[in-house]
Amino acid sequence: MKKDIETRLIHSFFDRSKHHGSLAAPIYQTSTFVFDSAEQGEARFAGEEEGYVYSRLGNPTVRELEQKLADLEEGEEGIAFASGMGAVSAILMHLLKSGDHVLVSEGVYGCTYGFLELMQDKFKVDYDLFDMQTADAIEKMIRPESRVLYVETPINPTMKLVDLEMVIQTAEKHNLKVVVDNTFCSPYLQQPLTLGADFVVHSATKYISGHGDVIAGAAVGPSEDMQKIRMSVQKDVGAVLGPFDAWLLLRGLKTLSVRMDRHCENARFIFEKLKQHPKVNHIIYPGDPEFSGYKLAEKQMKDFGGLISFEIAGGKAKAQKFMNALEVVQRAVSLGDAESLIQHPASMTHAVVPAEERKKMGITDALVRLSVGLENKQDIWADIEAALHSTYEFS
Ligand SMILES: *Cc1c(COP(=O)(O)O)cnc(C)c1O
Repeated sequence: MKKDIETRLIHSFFDRSKHHGSLAAPIYQTSTFVFDSAEQGEARFAGEEEGYVYSRLGNPTVRELEQKLADLEEGEEGIAFASGMGAVSAILMHLLKSGDHVLVSEGVYGCTYGFLELMQDKFKVDYDLFDMQTADAIEKMIRPESRVLYVETPINPTMKLVDLEMVIQTAEKHNLKVVVDNTFCSPYLQQPLTLGADFVVHSATKYISGHGDVIAGAAVGPSEDMQKIRMSVQKDVGAVLGPFDAWLLLRGLKTLSVRMDRHCENARFIFEKLKQHPKVNHIIYPGDPEFSGYKLAEKQMKDFGGLISFEIAGGKAKAQKFMNALEVVQRAVSLGDAESLIQHPASMTHAVVPAEERKKMGITDALVRLSVGLENKQDIWADIEAALHSTYEFS
């Protein structure tokens, strides 16, 4: 019987007997691999003999991570990348060519949007960003040259959810490949491949690492595609992950389920407290029964995640004053770390989005986004409450 994800997160794929019984995965900190003979080198290059050649083409520590990620996402094969954007761009470059069209859920990660722009300007790959709430809305946007449906759910910072089952069914009808950015959930909370998605991408920088000490990415999908990516886009563009960074992710992954459970528990607590505070408006949290995406979150996520967005009465000036008064919660972009992190989307992650567009997306100047960390939940709340108090004290 297949073991539970909580167990699979911890156990390794490598053969300990070949590594002195080492409990943790060894770090193969090497750029290249020595051949026993010239003939062996020839055979490896010809693909006639299994074995490593050069770390841009594969490395045992990185391979261990890739196998684990594929296993966790219930996919055939995984590839690790130097960053989340390395993974996103590799999958899109693999699936799209000049003249193709891609459908993209509204509000995707800023640099994903940037990469789509680049593909459009330089390579004539067209895209449409829109609200994927219904099959009808999607079908209206499909063109004969559409190839890929790219989804992020929940989306940052408005937490809007997209119904993965509906999107996948619609895509299947029209022969489109579905790519899901699963960064916000991690494989512990959501497994799009089990619902029929073709590819999953991750910024492993976030929950997968969980410790704020590495930039990394990952993609999981069918072996045939992943082999092609390995031997083309990844090899020739080169966003490869280093062995030590892979090892940090292997270390982080061991505690993913424990961390996610705590992130979710702490976020639930902070949400309840925020809800009662008179100076906090419009809280956006997938676990709020009044939130538009609540039912969907219940259906496709194991729990509601560790992210909460909310508005501070008084707009940007008050939001900044509030952020500056925080001591436990750190002012930083990124998410999914042990430390609680807060950012101001309108002036930080979404500053490049035109103000009009931001407003339409629901990103006001009063909005802050909190990644609830693993600290004691009472301490996190005490920090937020004190900062709110000092923000309004003299007004
Ligand atoms: C951070 C992030 C990315 C980009 O990942 P990097 O590791 O920073 O390159 C992509 N998608 C989402 C949803 C993210 O949060």
